[in-house]
Amino acid sequence: MIIKDIKILDENFEVRDHMNVAIEDRKFLSITKGMPDPEGREVFDGRGKFMMPAFYNTHCHVPMTLLRGYGEGLPLQRWLQERIFPFEAKFSPQYKYWGAKLGALELIKSGCVSISDMYFDLVDYGRALFEAGMKGNLCNGLVSFDEDASYFKDRAYQDTLNLMQWMKDNAAKNDGRIRADASVHSEYANKEKALREAFDFAADEGLIIQTHISETRAEHEECKGRHGLSPVKYFEKLGAFRSPVVAAHCVWLDDEDVDVMIDNNAVMSHNPSSNLKLGSGIAPVKKYADMGMNITIGTDGASSNNNLNMLEEVNLAAMLCRGQAMDANAIPVAEIVKAATRGGALAQGRTDCGLIKEGFRADFIVFDMDKEHLTPDYDTLSNIVFSAQSSDICMTACDGEIIYKDGEALFIDEEETIAKAEESFKKVLESI
Ligand SMILES: [Zn+2]
Repeated sequence: MIIKDIKILDENFEVRDHMNVAIEDRKFLSITKGMPDPEGREVFDGRGKFMMPAFYNTHCHVPMTLLRGYGEGLPLQRWLQERIFPFEAKFSPQYKYWGAKLGALELIKSGCVSISDMYFDLVDYGRALFEAGMKGNLCNGLVSFDEDASYFKDRAYQDTLNLMQWMKDNAAKNDGRIRADASVHSEYANKEKALREAFDFAADEGLIIQTHISETRAEHEECKGRHGLSPVKYFEKLGAFRSPVVAAHCVWLDDEDVDVMIDNNAVMSHNPSSNLKLGSGIAPVKKYADMGMNITIGTDGASSNNNLNMLEEVNLAAMLCRGQAMDANAIPVAEIVKAATRGGALAQGRTDCGLIKEGFRADFIVFDMDKEHLTPDYDTLSNIVFSAQSSDICMTACDGEIIYKDGEALFIDEEETIAKAEESFKKVLESI
């Protein structure tokens, strides 16, 4: 495939005009001013368009699309006890599959090709992402309130092993797209023994750890009350940071927590919509970024966002850090875009993803810039971050394969998916 005469965001996050991009064997073959030999290749006209790396969403619970709007406005404990737990008790693997497929539609339409995701029945719902042409780092977050509980007897452990087995059985066709990460849900949902075991497992297997850290002020302070340490420092004591850690939210970190995260090359997933909607606060990302922390961007699940639109999240991240820091260039737009692309890819261990660069996997999105709200196209990146809508995305490609084009998902039957998702939701409700 060749995309001819297109404006691109290059590997240094600078905009370059009139480029020709050739893609072969899932990768960027060449990115040049000169036109490569079109012999035997499909050629797309890139005039009036802008190509940039696709988004990597570093925090999601994708099957929870089916819980969108279910239990709005309830305080956390009532929401969990009266809505979420009874629903999840009847949320079969097949229903999760349809929830994930519905989420995949939203994700690819907003330019996202890969998610870090925490939920249950990883093989079943991972299949939906795989079929959609996406990538995902999937994990089952340990929740265990019993002092003597063992991680190795928990379904989180078994579910992770099941996905690792699936990866072995499907190694060739999967080609690293669907991956298993380790996970504990949070400090407050677990006891020390099981946490230590989960962290040992991650270190022994060389897995990334996904978790929630310091999402609310109450959680952060209560952890100090229980253990005399903040969640970050408690996890450090238990050995979490022997592995690469992706910590969702991080709204209430102390300066010392940020230092621990930086020293261990841990990554924050910034989830601004979720933090605002649930009243958790606004993470001081400008301060964290100045201190040197790795910042990436995630949507969180559809029961706390309530959509999976990565472009919206990028916009909100840029707006909030400016308002909070009272600085019109608090984090430059190129840095925000980098956090949502290359930063996310690195957080997922995908070192050859997230840049428009020769030899890298061809994960990219194309915006149609011939739109009233993107005219004039004087400062392209600020147009993307502050003006663009996800409906301006006319192409999403993952590993060199076009998975979404001109309003249509190429590997998802949209009508069927919406109908099955609606039906799955109703069946769960009927069975509660
Ligand atoms: Zn979450």
